[in-house]
Amino acid sequence: MTTDTLEFADEVDETSSQNLESWKVLIVDDETEIHSITRLALEDFIFDNKRLKFLSAYSGTDARQIMEEHPDVAVTLLDVIMESEDAGLLTAKYIRETLQNRAIRIILRTGQPGQFPERQAIVDYDIDDYKAKTEFTSQKLFTTIITALRSYKAYTALESINRELEKRVEDRTIKLQEEIDKRREAEEILYQSRSLLASILDSSLDGIVALKAIRDSATGKIENFCCLMSNQILARTFERRCEDLIGELVPRNLFTLLDPQLFDLFVAIVETGQPLERDFYYPWQDSCWYQFVAVKLEDGLAITVRDITVRKQIELALQSANQQLEALVNFDGLTKVANRRCFDARLQEEWKRLAREQQALSLILFDLDSFKRYNDFYGHLAGDDCLIKVAQAARASVNRASDLVARYGGEEFVVLLPNTSLEGAISVAVNIQHMIQALAIPHERSDVKSVVTVSLGIASLIPSIETQPDILIGQADWALYQAKQQGRDRYFANT
Ligand SMILES: [Mg+2]
Repeated sequence: MTTDTLEFADEVDETSSQNLESWKVLIVDDETEIHSITRLALEDFIFDNKRLKFLSAYSGTDARQIMEEHPDVAVTLLDVIMESEDAGLLTAKYIRETLQNRAIRIILRTGQPGQFPERQAIVDYDIDDYKAKTEFTSQKLFTTIITALRSYKAYTALESINRELEKRVEDRTIKLQEEIDKRREAEEILYQSRSLLASILDSSLDGIVALKAIRDSATGKIENFCCLMSNQILARTFERRCEDLIGELVPRNLFTLLDPQLFDLFVAIVETGQPLERDFYYPWQDSCWYQFVAVKLEDGLAITVRDITVRKQIELALQSANQQLEALVNFDGLTKVANRRCFDARLQEEWKRLAREQQALSLILFDLDSFKRYNDFYGHLAGDDCLIKVAQAARASVNRASDLVARYGGEEFVVLLPNTSLEGAISVAVNIQHMIQALAIPHERSDVKSVVTVSLGIASLIPSIETQPDILIGQADWALYQAKQQGRDRYFANT
């Protein structure tokens, strides 16, 4: 590069802001007068409100260096033969291929007309024009530069649009990739949490299912339920796989099979938020008793089903054992009516309750007339049989669940009648008397009749907290004594 070019380059750098407002034109020629002629010819040139800014290089090597420093040169007028026969073409090749500068317009000039470069080079290096130096009159140079600048301007405008588009595509691609990464991450987290959830659900010994309500779009009424998810235990009960149950409607006949009310109960849970706990019977394989707990979950239910067959069997066995035990404890082994112990407990209970309520409590105490003679004559087995019949007849004479017939001891029985007046008790006593008479059990040794009869003492009072129930027994006992005194086979009411 010559000193002149270096100084020029420095000047260009210092006035780079002005440069923005001018077109850079690089003159490359080993003949100095070509530089001055060209500058002179284009001195007043203005295109698109911008003047020309000239740069000069005197060899291909210089030109290449200037092009590296000034990639925004719009046009170069490039001599073909300089330090070598093809220095101009090498420079053109360097600009396009090495510097990848596609915008600059290259106009080849040669001093030896007829010495054309290969056509292929003109195509490959995108050379705009090829002129003999002699062709360059001032006017011709002017139009050549105008054409080149128009082309440069259009090219750079396109390039700028391209760059903008590329930038946008790149930005979009980056965003898209970020979104893809985020989604992948979210999917991974979802997958992990799903498999974690599945592991937790499957580690439960209970069947777990979540149901979603299916509502009528017009009325909003719940029409059915579909399965959102279930764990393996529950799916296995229906001989299905968890993933196959998802989204499936619960068959209406399944609800009915378990409990005719079940569907309505499920709807109520969703609508009211009130949970439901219930045992149901559903024989399947070795199990038959299940307990389910259903709670509202969003617009549906979460249901836990537990196999309680073993517990239920124990419970039922226990219940049965308890009932037997209770029978042993509270019932008279012979007559199958309540025993004395049961009577005493009930009397205490009723006494307290009726003292609070200030309601009447009545008592009938009765025994078989001449029973010792019956036993002596018919034997103890027949005596026992007679006691059983009398007890059962007495029990059949009372109607209310709260009334209690009990064996008081030997041939003596007692009837406890809560919330019953003296009149009511008399009516029961008459009834008992008739029922026993109707049995018509022969009693040849009786002082009274030829059949088994009873004497009954009746007492009735409103209990008080301060007194003991013995008072009532005492009164009934006294009345019984009166009935016997008056000839047996009758009742006496203590008024
Ligand atoms: Mg030359």
